[in-house]
Amino acid sequence: MDSKYMINSNGNSGLASVFPVKRKIEPMKEQNAIKKPNYTPPKQQQSPYKNNVLANNKRNSIDQDRKALPVYNCRQRILKEVEANDTLLIMGETGSGKTTQIPQFLLQAGYASNGIIGITQPRRVAAITIAKRVAQELSSNIGDTVGYTVRFEDTTTERTRIRYLTDGILLREAIGDRLLRKYAAIMLDEAHERTVNADVLFGIVKEAQQERRKHKMPKLKIIITSATMDIDHFGSYFNVKGMYLEGRTHPVRVMHAKEPQDDYIHAALVTLFDIHRHEPINHDVLIFLTGQEEIEALAQQIRQLARINNSGPSDVRVFTLYAQLAQGKQLECFLPVPANTRKIVLATNIAETSITIPGIRCVIDCGYVKEKSFNPSSGLDILKTVRISQAQAWQRSGRAGRDAPGKCYRTYTKNSMEFFRVAAQPEILRANLTSTVLQLLALGIDCTSFDFIDPPQQEGVQAAYKALEQLGAIKSATVPSITSSGRLMAQYPLDPRYAKLLLSAPTFGCMEEMLSLVAALSSDNVFIGHADKSELAALAHAKFQSKHGDHLTLLNVFTTFQKTEKPKIWCHDNFLNIRNLTYARNVRNQLAEISSRVGLVSNSCGDNSDAVKKCLLTGLFDNIAMLQKEGHYLTLSGRVKAKIHPSSVLHGKYKPQCILFTEMVKTEHNFLRQVTEISIEWIEEVVPSMKYIIK
Ligand code: ADP
Ligand code: MG
Repeated sequence: MDSKYMINSNGNSGLASVFPVKRKIEPMKEQNAIKKPNYTPPKQQQSPYKNNVLANNKRNSIDQDRKALPVYNCRQRILKEVEANDTLLIMGETGSGKTTQIPQFLLQAGYASNGIIGITQPRRVAAITIAKRVAQELSSNIGDTVGYTVRFEDTTTERTRIRYLTDGILLREAIGDRLLRKYAAIMLDEAHERTVNADVLFGIVKEAQQERRKHKMPKLKIIITSATMDIDHFGSYFNVKGMYLEGRTHPVRVMHAKEPQDDYIHAALVTLFDIHRHEPINHDVLIFLTGQEEIEALAQQIRQLARINNSGPSDVRVFTLYAQLAQGKQLECFLPVPANTRKIVLATNIAETSITIPGIRCVIDCGYVKEKSFNPSSGLDILKTVRISQAQAWQRSGRAGRDAPGKCYRTYTKNSMEFFRVAAQPEILRANLTSTVLQLLALGIDCTSFDFIDPPQQEGVQAAYKALEQLGAIKSATVPSITSSGRLMAQYPLDPRYAKLLLSAPTFGCMEEMLSLVAALSSDNVFIGHADKSELAALAHAKFQSKHGDHLTLLNVFTTFQKTEKPKIWCHDNFLNIRNLTYARNVRNQLAEISSRVGLVSNSCGDNSDAVKKCLLTGLFDNIAMLQKEGHYLTLSGRVKAKIHPSSVLHGKYKPQCILFTEMVKTEHNFLRQVTEISIEWIEEVVPSMKYIIK
């Protein structure tokens, strides 16, 4: 047996002693055994991509690449349709060039002379990487013709004509100007994702277009694009016909696991090395996983295993792609790899339709995705790993056939797939609507009469009203009219609960502290837990530890960071993430600016940590948990059983009677992340409406 990667030919692993793998992947007997809804039959075509053509003459190769995109042939047709119709639905395979090319067509055709072209993306990372790519295609710098705007970061200037932005940003802009006068055209991209913000935007842009028409103002062109849009549903909502782009996909041979896998990450690892042994070295691999942690862990494992076994001629390069990835690393997966090297990309569902990586010939699909859902009865948002939909499974497998015929290995059985949802549920039907409802109210829109493509459930709207009433953002849940304090909350690009913390801070005398804390909480993890230096890291982090819990610990870190003169060395020595801390500093500046604009006074409580803790209660009162005799915690709202997350400074120490937490994460248990000890008497003092539920 060739033991290079210690995986034998039948897919069973020679690693069995380390990682017991029980099952094999079998080829699907018939290609169409599972019916794919609306699947364009694959067409055999020559790929324009030699592997990683970007290597040599970059400019020419970029131009060649662009001209080879399917959307390029449809340029005239698209422009003709845009001219004839104010709203257009365009459906085309992922990677056909919709997001990067259509805005450039519009620009060249002169649509940006009366305003800018805005393209919304559900994800920040997609908005950034795509804007960078388009700037490169136009040989310009970000901020010139092309720019992007994401929360807390705006790179656009008055020269910018094409602007990629998240749907959340456009929605916020609508609060300032419901007619979106700045825009000549808006492309609502990735419409099939059906994020809450996008769903609301469909209604907002539709209305803006009508109003502008009514008042004889310059037209607003709307283009809705997607890879898998339900065109009838969208068509009847916008009252227009859809346009299909000539696709270009190659056949993908789909294989399913023979038996259910208990550990999809391990199954992916084994499958990968099996592919590596059997498939040509220039066939790149894309692995779909659910999130940062497992992606980084598996990437490390693959790199280690490849290093141990790199006696042969071939090698692997591992790249990762997920929302929280450092900006500099986001474009790395597009870079060419040396000859005789296999590119392996580990990504979340971001690579499903938002971002297309050239050269992928094999896909490994774990069949899961992380989804945030809201439980109106417990009032809590929970991040859960759930099964993907059948539509997502087909999108994922399609990624292997972008350049040439490919293969897709699904680490789940053919049978189990029949139980997957046909299509993902629109987020509005399962999300926490507090923020959305407040934004709509700030726009003067009553949620119950708004023209939604799919209206949210009444239960979710009621829960949002209740939360907003408790926050003081609306008069009452039965009379949902926005209060002046609600208007102020809507000014912040924050969840209303966090905006509330800032609004209450002056009363508790802790504005400076709260600005820092909310900014630090808006950033990703600032602590680096070096796997091989974990003791040193723990020792360094211990210096900042507050006995009160994680919020004050985080505040200590951030305040010390703000004071240090040599942040780079300081962060390195203290195992802290300088990028995330710098991001938090930037966020703090922006929050401080908004706060002074709305007239909040600035004050500081110094060492009085009770002030900070009490203030936290004014926004996060739904996130309180009480210790039970059995040793676990029970949340006050909803009575959910939970434990303190292992990453907390309070984990493994004494257990306070009453704690406040930032969020609940559901894995094998419910874990409370970022917790702080509070005093039960404060609840009644700070949030009188809660007193009825304290036992
Ligand atoms: P669509 O929106 O239809 O899915 P895109 O416009 O996003 O398609 O992508 C068009 C092509 O551009 C894809 O083949 C993709 O691989 C390529 N592409 C996009 N961004 C980059 C990048 N940063 N580097 C290299 N190629 C890229
Ligand atoms: Mg796209």
